[in-house]
Amino acid sequence: MRRPLMAGNWKMHLTLDAAQALARGVVEGLERALPGDDGVEVALCPPFTALERVGRVLEGTPVALGAQDLFWEDQGAYTGEVSGLQLVDLGCRYVIVGHSERRHVFGESNQAVQRKLGAALRHGLAPILCVGERIEERRAGRADSWVQDQLRTAVAELKPGEARRLTIAYEPVWAIGTGEHASGEEANRMAGVIRSLLEELFDAQVAAAVRILYGGSVKPANVGEFLAQPQVDGALVGGASLEAEGFVAMAVEA
Ligand code: PEP
Repeated sequence: MRRPLMAGNWKMHLTLDAAQALARGVVEGLERALPGDDGVEVALCPPFTALERVGRVLEGTPVALGAQDLFWEDQGAYTGEVSGLQLVDLGCRYVIVGHSERRHVFGESNQAVQRKLGAALRHGLAPILCVGERIEERRAGRADSWVQDQLRTAVAELKPGEARRLTIAYEPVWAIGTGEHASGEEANRMAGVIRSLLEELFDAQVAAAVRILYGGSVKPANVGEFLAQPQVDGALVGGASLEAEGFVAMAVEA
């Protein structure tokens, strides 16, 4: 059985005090709504600047700390970058790798994503690998092959034991922050495409173990549609994770 994951990506939002207050709101909301429940796993991914402050709030709670990106080297002359070594030092358990904003705003290639994924696993972090097609690929009927290519390259160097540790987020780019979302049925189909490729590249055990999340304009009003899908094991939530009550309500549904 795959344990569902509800992960919040706070992107480049929130000052330290606001991040701390939001984290507290989530922790307290979960304590009230799901006392002692270990059915759903919850992770918060604040910006790098707030990792330490939010980490202090999450310490001793079941809510995991995650980062939004990492660089593949451990240290060196890489101005502005943050390494897996540093994220572990801050108490991170998760790290998002290959988010579409990294790929399409900052030009991150599939090869760069591969190196980042390797670094995350090397440091014992749990990567949330994001894949997803743009509207151009979807309209051209190439959504499946686009996502398969992203995944194939990202995991090319991994052994089955490493691949098992992945969480994959299927996030169609056209649905991120737009208010438009894939239907539950289509999210389930795409998650199935991803799972089949994992079986082909690794084995049935890896395909069965890896969690596949849906992401793209998920909010309390539509999360149930995704969580009801057999291939979908939770959600990666951007905008709607910036409000504690709504985010907790989504975790409760998972
Ligand atoms: C995301 O940032 O991964 C995301 C899915 O954003 P949103 O929920 O705002 O579409």
